[in-house]
Amino acid sequence: MKTLALLGSTGSIGKQTVEVAREKNIKIDALAAFSNVTLLEEQIREFKPSLCAVVDEKAGRELKIRVSDTDTKVLIGEEAVTAVATESKAEILLNSLMGRCGIRPTVEAIRSGKDIAMANKEPLVAAGDIILDEVKKAGVRLLPVDSEHSAIFQCLDNTHNSKKFIKRLIITASGGPFFGKTKEELEKVTLADALCHPTWSMGQKITVDSASLMNKGLEVIEAVRLFGVPADKIEVTVHRQSIVHSMVEFVDSSILAQMGNPNMKHCIAFALTYPERQPSLCTPLDFTKSFSLTFDKPDENTFTLLPLARRAVTWGGNAPAVMNSANEEAVALFLKEKIRFVDIFTLVEDAVNSLPHMEKVTLDSLEEDDKLAREFVREHVRA
Ligand code: MG
Repeated sequence: MKTLALLGSTGSIGKQTVEVAREKNIKIDALAAFSNVTLLEEQIREFKPSLCAVVDEKAGRELKIRVSDTDTKVLIGEEAVTAVATESKAEILLNSLMGRCGIRPTVEAIRSGKDIAMANKEPLVAAGDIILDEVKKAGVRLLPVDSEHSAIFQCLDNTHNSKKFIKRLIITASGGPFFGKTKEELEKVTLADALCHPTWSMGQKITVDSASLMNKGLEVIEAVRLFGVPADKIEVTVHRQSIVHSMVEFVDSSILAQMGNPNMKHCIAFALTYPERQPSLCTPLDFTKSFSLTFDKPDENTFTLLPLARRAVTWGGNAPAVMNSANEEAVALFLKEKIRFVDIFTLVEDAVNSLPHMEKVTLDSLEEDDKLAREFVREHVRA
């Protein structure tokens, strides 16, 4: 049985990963989270990991006292996440951290020879070339956990020499809570409206990204990185039922789709037990009852972050990273109700169009771009 290092264990995907680990008897050797000590203590007592990283200092000190009777070593601070990712003897690391903070731990975990199950899309968006390069050098597996990419991966896994025969990838989008809304209607939406997702239950940041379709934009870039397909061959279709998780069209016009009721535990379990498939507790589709599947064109004139993401990845260099950091900052401001929903669109677009373009990115240049993009967003809110 595989051993797992789990980054982001107290978030939405983290908690579902813990359930999968419990169901499949997967050993968890390392945990990392921001500050939820109550849940971390429970996870430590149940899974007895050798290591646990806590980003928040105060929370870390409290956890150390709470679990002093166990054999788990508690490390504190942002660097502790990277230390845990490297030091753990786990064979596979599932990264479900939120945002670009997952970049360094991912790179270091790859260097230490771990397979990566990637639920955290921002590192692939911002530092895709660096991560792919490290994966190649280390000869480890990079397995997608995002439902759309898991679907594409599963469709490609069954066809001999599959990548050579791809005509296009078709990524499905639920459309989020604002599907069908006009620009004028979006002016008036509230935070509560944005957090009300029709089909998937997720963390707040990704739920807002789903409402703005930035999430789909990030997923187009993620697909470019994972499958080596250019952005103009990646189509997005709005599929309200979230049953078809994505599709691959091959050169002979044959289309393969991966389907199932929306449940992230399927994607998590698939990545953690790959190349095997394990029996699942997820509710299967019931074809004895009639149901419909619909597909619609996304409104890219209103939801402009989706075409922006395509432009950013085609432009390359630091453009996807700048877009991602500006979006993280804008969404954080929206979650604090400091800006309107529609302001996210203009702030992110302006940041990408205004900040200096750099062809070559390194881990250090990415830190710098991140600071610049966040400052840009904050300054333009004040202005
Ligand atoms: Mg997704």
